[in-house]
Order: sequence, then structure tokens, then C-alpha cells
Amino acid sequence: MPHDSKSRLSRAPAPRTTDLMMNWRIGVDLGGTKTEAVAIDGTGRERLRRRIPSPGGDYGATIATIAQLGEAMENELGRRTRVGVGIPGTISPATGLVKNANSTWLIGHPLDQDLAEALSRPVRIANDADCFALSEASDGAGAGAPVVFGVILGTGVGGGIVVNGRLLSGPNAIAGEWGHNPLPWPLDDERPGPTCYCGRSGCIETFLSGPALTHDDGRGVTARDLASRDDDQSAQSLARYEHRLARALAHVINLIDPHVIVLGGGLSNIERLYETVPRLWGRWIFSDNVQTRLCPPRHGDSSGVRGAAWLWPVSDDPPPAASEVPAAVRAVLMEPMPPTIWLTRESTAGEGGATGPGAAPQAGTEADDPAKLHIDLQLTRRELAAAKAEAALADAAKSRFLAAASHDLRQPFQAMNLYLQVLETLPQEDRARKALALLRTSMEAGEELLQALLDISAFEAGIIAPNVTRFPIAPLLDELAGEYHCVALEHGLSFRTFPVEAVVETDRVLAKRMCRNLVHNAFRYTRDGGILIGCRRRGARILVQVFDTGPGIPADKLQMIFEDFYQLDNPARDRSKGLGLGLSIVQRTAHLLGQDVWVASRPGHGSVFSVTLPLATSHSGNKP
Ligand SMILES: [Zn+2]
Repeated sequence: MPHDSKSRLSRAPAPRTTDLMMNWRIGVDLGGTKTEAVAIDGTGRERLRRRIPSPGGDYGATIATIAQLGEAMENELGRRTRVGVGIPGTISPATGLVKNANSTWLIGHPLDQDLAEALSRPVRIANDADCFALSEASDGAGAGAPVVFGVILGTGVGGGIVVNGRLLSGPNAIAGEWGHNPLPWPLDDERPGPTCYCGRSGCIETFLSGPALTHDDGRGVTARDLASRDDDQSAQSLARYEHRLARALAHVINLIDPHVIVLGGGLSNIERLYETVPRLWGRWIFSDNVQTRLCPPRHGDSSGVRGAAWLWPVSDDPPPAASEVPAAVRAVLMEPMPPTIWLTRESTAGEGGATGPGAAPQAGTEADDPAKLHIDLQLTRRELAAAKAEAALADAAKSRFLAAASHDLRQPFQAMNLYLQVLETLPQEDRARKALALLRTSMEAGEELLQALLDISAFEAGIIAPNVTRFPIAPLLDELAGEYHCVALEHGLSFRTFPVEAVVETDRVLAKRMCRNLVHNAFRYTRDGGILIGCRRRGARILVQVFDTGPGIPADKLQMIFEDFYQLDNPARDRSKGLGLGLSIVQRTAHLLGQDVWVASRPGHGSVFSVTLPLATSHSGNKP
């Protein structure tokens, strides 16, 4: 990096402060007896939590209480935030008024409008079961899963569906409300079933709520106590419950095929459900094998309030403020950048089999007999093929194991994260605080490594099936810009995106992950200057290019950076610098999607990583 570039770039215009402020959100969980609020930052870390009694029965006081609570927290935090509220009911899209609330004083009021007025900003409101699902899908047990079904098994039964980080919400605002469907595949003694307050009989809720379990057992024992007893009757009651839960969830899996189902509510504490129910549900699921995972909640009772905060997903954060393209980035953009290495599917597709030079026999001796030579070659090939098949089997078994154990491997990190959060909120002396900060860095690096390993094993186990849809590229890049906006500020780097108006046709989640890994990598190596994401059309494809003003990559290292665990300039393998797996994942993803990725670099000036995505063809929208 030339010496003067840092001083020049440090004068780049500062971002508008409002952009920064919007990266925090407050979630409010409006309960019948207590109102809880939490402030989280853009990474989901909890920054402040407050709990006060709910002003029961008084709508005006409810509005005032939420407004005062929000303002008091913002004063404490010293920043303005976005606000989401979870309520025991829902806002009817037809009337704009609260309906289905057991806190009856809310019914018939335009709660969202009144709160927006009181807090002078837009306020998002959702049902508490939806908030639970959103919390677990955003940064809980279902984090990263494209489709998550969150289930509340408590005094009532409800649910919410989250698709790609957003709540599914239809014209009736009842998505996921499966508690009042009939219990599927009922046994003779389950017909017509208990009467339900909704006016029908045999609803799922009348079998799967906590009170229903107690009623079914017949001894007045609470669900929690049943789970801890080891007498025959308790075992039978729980077995009936599990059979019913498996049928009810099989119905949901047949309908929306979620990647993860997260249980919440009091009955989610019954640990054996996570083992017994998935063992049972296969017989009703219309699939030869079932990949759906059944998970306990990560945030448990906190999910209502955290999910309310996530009603403002990170992707809604404003893109970074416009600023001048730094000269250093412009230089990378304008100048030709040999050498380039292409990593096409063909060049990495592998080896030429047993016909390479190593397999050729020595000249002389048997080589003189063409028939024998032919047989020997065939034998060698067969042996090689057998050895290769055996190695592939072992490798596949390892990958399958890792993919299957992925949840269990992640869980210790979740627990550590939680304990660390507890420690961080306690008062600390200086040395302890420093040690905690180091501990967090190490833990996050470990978690990142594990995540990357699991991603790779998922690829190798062949369980990643692209879900191809058509979507515009610009919002995806805007989302990335939102995610990395703060990182750029923190490191004093400029960061800009130049998307084009184009619709691509590929797997959105995988495409975003590829782009994110490239951006992440650029930030890892760039010390000053900036990073730029640009797009260009190239025939039937679009190039997404990530330019950086990092140290660049020597020509002889260009191929190696795509190998697992290879890190440039990191011979000491400093884990905090990342893992050297990001680019390897990009390459695997690109090949899975039938796309190409390559890099061009000029040492001392910077690099550009390019990945292709297929443009949607005009007729592909008419597919059935
Ligand atoms: Zn019902």
C-alpha cells in the first residue's frame, strides 16, 4: 500500500449517524401480567433488558407504558432504535384492529398505529407464537435454516413459519396456526376428541397443550411432573403424547417441509421428545427419509421478546451512506489485472483416472506383449477403482456423520455464548474484562471454524440441494451492504456496492453465502483503502465482483487460496484471522450451482474475486 493512501482515505465522508442508530432494535413482549423489553444489536447480542408489570385491562395505559419503557431504554442506551412488539393476538389485515387476543382489552384497537404515534416511528407487531418462531429462526436453534416452523406447546398450542428470515404472513394473518386443525390419523379412542373452545372437537390443541396432557393422564399431574416420574402410567401418557405430536408434526412436514422445527412453551422442556418424536414421525411423512430436525429452543422464554426485536430483520437496515469511490479502489477497477486464474468446473473436476503416466508399465519386458499389457492395465484400473471407491465411502461416511451431528456440535458453542453473555453483564475489573474479550474472540473463531467445517461436510455428504428461484440481484447485495456497513466503519474502510437491475435464477441462500464469503474475505485482508462490489452482464450470466485494496496475491499462490485451510500470509495459523475455508466453500458452492469463480490480483494493489450467476431467461417465468 502506498504510504499516502491512508491519510487520503481517512477523509472519506462520515456516514449519517441515523444509519448507525438503526442497527439496534428493541423488542417488547406484551404479556397479560408482565411486559418485557430487550435491546439487541445487529448481531443479536443483548444489550439491555427491562421487565415491568402490564397495565392489565387498560388500553390507553398499555400504549403509554410501552412508549415510556421504549423511551427510557433508549435514554439509557443513548441511541434511537427500531421497535417491534409481540402480542398475545394478532392484527387483522382486514380491519387493522387487534383480534384473537386473550388480553381482551387490546381487541378492536389499531395497536400498531397507536404505538407508532406514541413512539413517533413505525412499529411492527406480531403474534407471540410468530415472535417465538422468528427468534429461533433468526439467531436461535433454527438459525441459517431456510424454512423454520416454531411451535408453542404450552397452555395453548400455536406456531409460526419463517421463510428465509421472514415471517410468513398471509391475508388472514394465521400462518402456522395449526393448533385448531384436527389431530391427523386419529385412533378410534381419539374420535371425536375433546371439545375445543373454538367450537369444534378433536383439535390438535385439545391433545397437545399442557392442560390436555394432564387431562389425558387423568391424575391431575402437571406435564413437567409427568416427565420426571418413572411409573408406568406416566410413561404411557407421555408415549400417547409423543405419538400424537409426531402425527401432528408429520402433517406440517408434508405441507411446508421445514428444515427445522423448534419447540417452545412449557412442554418443550421434556427432553425425550427430541429423540422419540423424530423416531415416530417417519411413518406418516411422505418421503423415503426425513431430514427435518426437531430442536429445543435456544432462547426459550426469551424468544418472545427477542423475536419482537427481529421483526426488523438485519436485511432491513439501511444501506451504507453514499461516498466517493476511493482512488485506490478506482485504480483496481481501471487497470488490467493479470494474472488471472480461472477455476472452472472442468479444471477442478478431477484427475484423469488410471491412464496417467504413473499407470504406464516400464518399457521392455511384458510391455512387448500387447495382450498382456491390456490385461495388466485393466487389472490396475480395477484395483485403483476399488481403492478409490473405498476411500470415497469412508469420506462420505465421515461427511454424513458430521452433517448429522452438526446440531450437537454447535450446541456447546451456543451454551458457551450464553454463559459468556452472563459474564459480560456482570461488573468486571479491567483484567477480567480483557480476558473476557479475548475469550469471546477465541470462541467466535472456534464457532466460525466449526460452521465452515460443517458447511463443507454438508457439501461432501451431498445433502445440499439447490433451491432455484428467480430474484433480483440488487436487494441481495443491499443486504450484504447492510451486514458489512458497521465492519467497514470499524476498520475505517470505504465500502460501496454498485448493483445492476437484473433478475438472476439460482439458489438465493447459496448465492448470498458465496457473495458474503467473498466480502468477508476482502475485509479480512484489507487494512486500508476499501472494498467495492460491482456487477457486470456477460452474455447469459452476470458477474458479481468484489474488489479490494488489500495486499494482493502472488501469482503462484492464486490456485492455493481456494484450497481447504490455506491462508495467505498466515503461516502461524492465527485463528483470529479466520480459517482459510471461506474461499473453498465459495468454490464448492459455485460448482454446485454450475457457476464459475476466479480471482485476479496485482500484489501491492489489490484483488478482485468474481463469481458468475445465471440471468433469468424471459421464458423461465412461465414454468409450471
Ligand atoms: Zn379448536
